[in-house]
Amino acid sequence: TGELLRDKVILITGASSGIGAAAAYVFAREGASVVLAARREERLGALVAELTDKGFEASAVVCDVTRAEDARRAVAHATERFGRLDGAFNNAGVGGDRTPLHEMGDEVYDAILDTNVRGLWNCLRAEIGAMLAGEGGAIVNNSSVGGLVAIPTAAPYVVSKHAVVGFTRAAADEYAHQGIRVNAVAPGLTRSELTVDWFARNPGLEEAVEATIPQARTAAPEEVAEAAAWLLSDRASYVTGTVLPVDGGYV
Ligand code: NDP
Repeated sequence: TGELLRDKVILITGASSGIGAAAAYVFAREGASVVLAARREERLGALVAELTDKGFEASAVVCDVTRAEDARRAVAHATERFGRLDGAFNNAGVGGDRTPLHEMGDEVYDAILDTNVRGLWNCLRAEIGAMLAGEGGAIVNNSSVGGLVAIPTAAPYVVSKHAVVGFTRAAADEYAHQGIRVNAVAPGLTRSELTVDWFARNPGLEEAVEATIPQARTAAPEEVAEAAAWLLSDRASYVTGTVLPVDGGYV
């Protein structure tokens, strides 16, 4: 255990699997009280039970980030349960199948933009409101290397993750003088449900992807969570509006 996030109350969206679930462990181990938000209630319940068994402070709230009232409820849950909101890791997101742009259906576009962009919009407004009412705070948004460069056959995803960078810069600039820092992480391919399914359906793809990464491997979810933990901590007190690639040298 460490002290990086001691006594901080941190909301994690998309906490039921992958990078978000890893973040729950990493942040709790660094001393944070974590509020886990996602749609799958059982998953969240199991994670909270595991964390509290280990002596950590954790609480779950069911939340579909595409619904503004759910985002507000998640933030209210954090402030009611733990007294305030010091940090948020806006991590909830969806990928979608890889398809050439001109063959992509509206439903793929809608699902990705709704979750990754409107979902972040909903969460940011609720979180910033609570932080302004409190003592400020720190926000980390989960973008992607696809927020910095193109990923082939993933146009709506690339658009959505560039928008995450846009929200990060806009909010950082707007609230810097009010004690709120806003940064993003830009993970490269990370071993989570999102990618494991995708690799399973596309034999040989994992090896092909690894060949494009200087470190020649994908990321563990914990490696992304560690970068987010630092950005959320007071050690990053003069860092705002940045996008930190966590990508094995890819970008
Ligand atoms: P997972 O599929 O394992 O996790 C996605 C999480 O988002 C789940 O907890 C899911 O929970 C949650 N989620 C999805 N839709 C919603 C919604 N409408 N409301 C609330 N929660 C939602 O994948 P990852 O851990 O990989 O993905 C996490 C983030 O990391 C995403 O933003 C993704 O774009 C980003 N990322 C991932 C990379 C990778 O290679 N894996 C690379 C770069 C970025 P539930 O279904 O219970 O709601």
